[in-house]
Amino acid sequence: MVIRVLPPAVAAGIAAGEVIERPASVVKELVENSLDAGASTVGVEVLQGGLQSIRVTDDGSGIAPDELRLAFERHATSKLRSLDDLAAVTSLGFRGEALASIAAAAHVRLLTRTAGAEAAAFVEIEGSAVIAEGTSSGAPGTSVTVEALFSTIPARLKFIRSASAETARIRGVLDHMAMACPHVRFSLRSEARMLLQTSGNGALRDVMAAVYGAEVADSLIEVTGSARGVYPVHGMVSPAERSRPNRTGMSLFVNGRWVSNRTLSVAVEQAYAGLLMEGRYPIAAMFVDVPPAEVDPNVHPNKREVRLVRDADAFSSVQRAVREALLADSPVAEARGLLAPPPAPAQAPTPAPTLALGGLAPALSAGLAPLPEPSASPSGGEDALAAPAAAGQGAPGSPRAPLRILGQISNMFVVAEGADGMYLIDQHAAHEAVLYYRLLRQWEERRPEVQSMLEPLPVELTPEQVEAVAGAQPTLERYGVRIEPFGGSTWLVRSVPLMARSVSAAKLVAEILDAHSGGAGSDTHLAVAASIACHSAVRAGQTLDRQEMEALGHALTTEDIPQHCPHGRPTMLRVTTSSLEREFGRS
Ligand code: ADP
Ligand code: MG
Repeated sequence: MVIRVLPPAVAAGIAAGEVIERPASVVKELVENSLDAGASTVGVEVLQGGLQSIRVTDDGSGIAPDELRLAFERHATSKLRSLDDLAAVTSLGFRGEALASIAAAAHVRLLTRTAGAEAAAFVEIEGSAVIAEGTSSGAPGTSVTVEALFSTIPARLKFIRSASAETARIRGVLDHMAMACPHVRFSLRSEARMLLQTSGNGALRDVMAAVYGAEVADSLIEVTGSARGVYPVHGMVSPAERSRPNRTGMSLFVNGRWVSNRTLSVAVEQAYAGLLMEGRYPIAAMFVDVPPAEVDPNVHPNKREVRLVRDADAFSSVQRAVREALLADSPVAEARGLLAPPPAPAQAPTPAPTLALGGLAPALSAGLAPLPEPSASPSGGEDALAAPAAAGQGAPGSPRAPLRILGQISNMFVVAEGADGMYLIDQHAAHEAVLYYRLLRQWEERRPEVQSMLEPLPVELTPEQVEAVAGAQPTLERYGVRIEPFGGSTWLVRSVPLMARSVSAAKLVAEILDAHSGGAGSDTHLAVAASIACHSAVRAGQTLDRQEMEALGHALTTEDIPQHCPHGRPTMLRVTTSSLEREFGRS
């Protein structure tokens, strides 16, 4: 075949495919134009998932009649003039491609009127050619109608599954535009049904109610910029118990633009570390503001991806702000159903002997074993529960009052008195959470507490583990684990994290390497911290002495620890004094 320059209509059709992937992309581009035009009301109506028709109507600035045709030219835009402008662009559009692309792929009619104009002007275009134009009556603003989308590009139609799936995607676009612009009134109608309607009153929570329902919206926790973050951040996130099995509820915005960005979504997810079970994701609408020069929205023609110059700063700004909001909103779970009345005794209770038990019903008294002596019982925990080095510096604003340790039950739970009631601590889950968050803190501050081996400890690694060493090395070192090759499959462990001293170093190293053998992602350090914490924490079944329990209680109330272990199980339950009073018939 000889090389030929493609006819303009073919070239336009090919280029259009990049911007206009499906009906939802048309909706997105048109709504972006309305928002860029300063609209305060945007109405969208679709038929057949947008394949039959899409109409977007706004009350924005409108287009001057003499610029109408120009608006449909490729690379015609009012939003920037030079490449320098691109570095500072704050509008949603800037490529000047959307109208041209839509016109290449469908039948388009645009009706527009500027504020000062006496009448509206319209133009009708099909396959990039003007087929009609003139003046008409019409309100100030712009209305664009797109019909028979992709009739000129049948290949595209093959990728479109069903009208209902497309309608759902369009709904998704509108949901996110509405979150980004709570001051704009949005409506979406499909066939005769109203799918979304927002008030434009400026309240994000009201938009979230329109999108997710009032119950979810009421439960959302407000996030405001972290004092420690580099970039201003705001938004709303769900409490952990509102999680979902996928990421569809996570919405991210950079400078008001709805984006898909891995760094930011990992930042939100990591803020929930220890709060959510694996495979569960929050509902979130998080906004981060970055100086325009530090973000590149021109990564893809559909502008859904952005590149952040200071990726790590954006990450930590979002992660910290969300985490702080979650911790501030993390009350100790109340133990429900724990206080069921004891089962009725087999025989009729004899009233007399209860006196000897201080008035307690016999069945209940059986559950009240004496508190263990505060003696030095043999401890398998060694000094794993020693108070943290920096015990004095409790998390600012830590919500909990000190705990008065009462004892241990079943070698599994620690009983304590605290603010308004009795606290039951799961010793393993709680200690694991303490260690996990200490590790993460040390990781973040790059100050691991290290325990050097007096003599290097040889470990045997499997070929898979050896292969994982390279990827895992930076993570290992940042936690204070140093290993080096000795020859063959033998490696030497030179140091381990200080808090891991009661664990077999060999087992620890092997497990970390196993965690890495799938390749090191940006969040493997969480898995490593979880594995160190899990192995170093006291086990259920281990007798704790008073000092160890005190140290655990102290850590739980002074350090920045959520009420769940890294696996998402609660670390503490509370039985309120008032519920005890109720159960004993005192109130
Ligand atoms: P871009 O948005 O990248 O500039 P488009 O092809 O989407 O490119 O639009 C071209 C131009 O048409 C815009 O720059 C804008 O001046 C004008 N325009 C498009 N839609 C509207 C609208 N709804 N209201 C006012 N002007 C619009
Ligand atoms: Mg545009």
